[in-house]
This record gives sequence, C-alpha cells and structure tokens, in this order.
Amino acid sequence: MDFNDAPQEAEFRATVKAWLAEAAAEYQQPPEKPWGLEDFVARSKAWQLKKFENGYVGITWPKAIGGQGLTPMHQIIFNQEEGRTFVPSGLYSIGLGMCIPTVFTHGSPEIAARYVPKALRGEEVWCQLFSEPVAGSDLASIRTRAVKDGDEWVINGQKVWTSFAHKSDFGIVVTRTDFDAPKHKGLTMFIVDMKAPGVEVRPIRQMSGSSDFNEVFFTDVRVKDTHRLGAVGDGWKVSLTTLMHERLAVGGKPRGAPGYQALINVASGIDTDTGPAIQRADVRNRIADTYIADEGIKLTQMRALSALSRGQVPGPEQSISKVVVAKTLQDVSSFALDLAEMSGLAVEAGSDLEKLQGSYMWSAGLRIAGGTDEILRNIIAERVLGLPGDLRPDKDTPFSQLKPL
Ligand SMILES: Cc1cc2nc3c(=O)[nH]c(=O)nc-3n(C[C@H](O)[C@H](O)[C@H](O)COP(=O)(O)OP(=O)(O)OC[C@H]3O[C@@H](n4cnc5c(N)ncnc54)[C@H](O)[C@@H]3O)c2cc1C
Repeated sequence: MDFNDAPQEAEFRATVKAWLAEAAAEYQQPPEKPWGLEDFVARSKAWQLKKFENGYVGITWPKAIGGQGLTPMHQIIFNQEEGRTFVPSGLYSIGLGMCIPTVFTHGSPEIAARYVPKALRGEEVWCQLFSEPVAGSDLASIRTRAVKDGDEWVINGQKVWTSFAHKSDFGIVVTRTDFDAPKHKGLTMFIVDMKAPGVEVRPIRQMSGSSDFNEVFFTDVRVKDTHRLGAVGDGWKVSLTTLMHERLAVGGKPRGAPGYQALINVASGIDTDTGPAIQRADVRNRIADTYIADEGIKLTQMRALSALSRGQVPGPEQSISKVVVAKTLQDVSSFALDLAEMSGLAVEAGSDLEKLQGSYMWSAGLRIAGGTDEILRNIIAERVLGLPGDLRPDKDTPFSQLKPL
C-alpha cells in the first residue's frame, strides 16, 4: 500500500490546492449557515461552471467528449482537495458520476455531443430513474413499460426514490420492453426529458424536513428512438455501467461526515450522573471502536487508491467500505445523541452535535442507497469470500410468468 503521492500526483495536488485556495472562496457554504434548496442549486451551478472554465470537470473522461483524459487518481486527488473546502456538492454527483458516463458509453456520438458538454458546464442536471415501488435491490423486476410506436417509444409506469428529480432536466430511465423475456433480458434504457408532457414529479418529504428525492410518474411519455441507450433488450447490461459508477461514487465516507473526533468533542462537553462523559469507560470504549472503524475505512480506501495509482481496478472488496462507513456513522451519531439526552434535540448551529444530528437522520438512507447492507454483504460473501451464491430461482423464467409479490 502506498501512503504518499507519486511525484506527478503530488504536483497535480499542489496545483489543485493553489487553485482552490483562490477560486473556492466566493462559493463556500460555512456549516453554520446552511443554504436553502434554491440557493444551493444556484451556487452549485455557478461552482460547476467555474470548474468547467478551469478544466476541473470530466477529469477521467476522454478528451474527445470534453473531458481531461487524466487518471482516476487525478479525480480522487481533486475530490480530496475540494472536499476540504465548503463549496456546494451533491447536485451533480448522480448526473456526472453515473448518468453521463452511461450516456457516452452507450449512446450515439450525436447524443453524446448534445448532452455531455451541457452536463459538464452544469447547465443541465440529471437524475437516475431506476428504483420502483417493487424493484429496488432486485432492479431487474421493474415494471415501467416502454412500447415502440413508429420512431418513438411510449413510457408508462412509476419510479421512486429518484434523487433530485425535482431539480433535474433529464434522466436515464430503465424500462421493460419485453415482458415475455426472462427478467434481466427484457429491459431497455432511455434518456428522458424531465419536462416532457406526462412526466409528473412528486417530492417526498423526509424526517430531516428536506425533500431530496421523489416519486416520478410516467403517463404516455414519448421518447425518440435516438434517445435509446444501448440495444433493445440490453438495458440490464447498460444499467451495470451506471451501477458500477454508483458503487464508486457512494463507497467512501461522505464529505464532512463526523467520526471519532466529533465524538470526543461532544463527550468532553457533557456531564452525566456518573461524571464527565469523556471519563466513562463505555464512552471511551465507543470512541476507541469508532477510531478503529475510521482507520479501517481509511486503510481500505488507501488500498483501493494504491490499486488505482498502479493502473489496476479496485475489486468488489470496496463494498466492505460502504457497509462499515454507513453503519459506523449511524452508530456514532445515535450514541452521541443519546449521550446528550435532551440537548441532542435542540442543537447549536455549526456544532459537532448538529453534524451528528444530521448524520443520524441521513445515515439510515446511506445504508440503503447504492446497495443495501444485505446486498453488499451478499457481494462480499460471493465475490470476495467465494461462498455459494444467493438463490435466484426466477432468473430464467419469462417475466410475464412470474407471480407478483
Ligand atoms: C438516499 C437514497 C437515495 C436514492 N436515490 C435513488 C435514485 O436517485 N434513483 C433510484 O433509482 N433509486 C434511488 N434510491 C433507491 C435505492 O436504490 C433503493 O432504495 C435500494 O436499491 C433498495 O431497494 P428498496 O428500497 O426497494 O428495498 P428492497 O430491495 O425491497 O429491500 C428491502 C429489504 O430487504 C433486503 N433484501 C432485499 N433483497 C435481499 C437479498 N437478496 N438478500 C438479503 N436481503 C435482501 C434489503 O437489504 C432491505 O433490507 C435511493 C435510496 C436512498 C435511500
């Protein structure tokens, strides 16, 4: 495992650091003054444009489509340095992290030329329309139907949990085009205009008060055949391109997520019936456990970075990172809020306790998004440990003959 940058990586890091020191200043969001959604979207767009103008977008993408043609290590170094600032993040992670790579991998050159530059400039926001009320982990069970009509397709059905659909211009949607084929074989992917007639987006209100994701209903939505991604019936293969990018995008520890240090800070300020919290053995044990988990995550990620730096592809063991990150975050934040008792409810803006309260609310989602704990454990069991595979009895049966749940 390499802990240090190679010379050319160190040089790139220094350039990025110097640029961010100047450029990021006017786009930052101090943690104690959170933006509202509209402001967040406007500032995200402005920051994306600034990065575009300075060559820090599409870092690993081919130059021919407007990327920088650099390595994944360059992208990671940029992310790490950008992650030390408070610039807005998240609005483009699905579009640029997952949708657009699918578009330029499986769409025609004309489609790539139409959509990639505007996405890179941040002018158009994208969402991923995969999950349905009865198809999440088992994505190949989707029922949204697309039927060919001349040189167009007509889409009917429902998606759910679609992040940022309410702020998106376009989406990639997986549909079923052949109900008589086995479930993985009858799927086809399209680009859909989120403002097209028949697309209805209903935001879902979360316990945190915000609405980050949506239900999306399609009623006779027409999509041109030119906007198909991959061959008819190849939607599963195309989805794997998106999901592979998703696992990379959501694998690590989220930017600014609290860890053992936040727990030390909180425990140092709390007096309990049995004395200062920081001196209690159970609290100290919990801090030690969190420290060990944080270090384990850091080293697992470092191992992946070392592989990338040598031009190798990190393996399925990356799933370990996500399982540990999400569970540790949820455990740490719930423990800290319990420790703080009533003051865990009314927290001071910008404090560690506020961060922990935030992570308490969204860490449950992190254990589901991008593959649930159980699904990732299946991957670890099958592909890392070589254990027998999960039972998949419906794999070869025509979808139309499967019994609904
Ligand atoms: C924050 C967040 C953002 C999201 N954003 C998007 C988005 O932008 N676009 C999108 O399409 N989707 C999105 N999703 C949806 C997400 O992909 C699904 O929630 C996820 O795939 C799980 O599917 P499900 O909710 O239908 O649960 P299910 O698949 O029904 O799972 C229910 C429970 O059963 C378990 N389970 C299922 N299958 C197995 C198995 N084979 N073995 C063992 N246990 C199993 C699961 O682990 C889980 O505990 C988002 C979800 C979250 C939380």
